[in-house]
Amino acid sequence: MSQRFSALLLGTAALAAGLAVSSCNTEKASASESEAPANATAEAMSGAAATAAEEKAATPADATTSAPDPSTIPASAVGNAAAILARPQVPILCYHQIRDWRAKDSKGAKDYIVPVDRFKEQIKMLADSGYHTILPDQLYAYLTTGAKLPSKPVMLTFDDTDLDQFTVAKPTLDKYGYKAVYFVMTVSLGRPNYMSKAQVKQLSDEGNIIGSHTWDHHNVKKYQGQDWVTQVEKPTKTLEEITGKKINYFAYPFGLWNPEAIPELKKRGMVAAFVLAEKRDQQDPLFTIRRIIASGYWSPKTLHNSIVQSFDGK
Ligand SMILES: [Zn+2]
Repeated sequence: MSQRFSALLLGTAALAAGLAVSSCNTEKASASESEAPANATAEAMSGAAATAAEEKAATPADATTSAPDPSTIPASAVGNAAAILARPQVPILCYHQIRDWRAKDSKGAKDYIVPVDRFKEQIKMLADSGYHTILPDQLYAYLTTGAKLPSKPVMLTFDDTDLDQFTVAKPTLDKYGYKAVYFVMTVSLGRPNYMSKAQVKQLSDEGNIIGSHTWDHHNVKKYQGQDWVTQVEKPTKTLEEITGKKINYFAYPFGLWNPEAIPELKKRGMVAAFVLAEKRDQQDPLFTIRRIIASGYWSPKTLHNSIVQSFDGK
């Protein structure tokens, strides 16, 4: 099932790129489904949703609120897992491809492919509901020190370097003054249907955050020795050269991780890492920050309900 899904998910884009990998994960498909209530209630949609006037851009300052550099936060705060786990989670959404469905897209793949109009509706719902996008440094300061966040914070993340994230998603986010995190797998850079180095640089220059998502999307749980250099160390350096900024954040391919991976990521400069919908690690919550896949099947209401269900009180 997992292999079949991965293969189907590849589609022409990845085939054109010559990749033997797929976008993130199958486990999360079931997790996403379980978090998508069939009876999404309108209650979750705030009254603000009706206000057409709010279609206009939100304050661009939302996402760029100054956050301390992670290196300035004391080790005692970073190491206090109990305090980190006690703070309410910030909703984090994970997107992959933003494009209209094609006849050959499988049922499972459609969780990872959000049609263009649906994506626009989802983002508009967030804006209309008063959500403010935050970036990882803000999240890190909040989780470790309790630093204040904007009201109704949300983090938007995009995995796997797909070109439509730049050409389709970014203009929508720009409209609302939203910023996002792009987890890049470096093998894809410059290949057909993937972003170029220049596009990644532009995203970074415009105030978005670039994160590391390995070289070619192999499962972190299987790394040995030199794999850490190939999959994390070198790609991270590449991204630092492209952006001119330190790369602090990592997303596990397929959301899969094990305890052995955490010290390896720390050694290579990561201060936090992102999984998918499963529970956080009790010892290292900063290296197992939860995200949910914003499914291509989800109406704005279902997305809102899923945000509330998945991140409240867990
Ligand atoms: Zn991925």
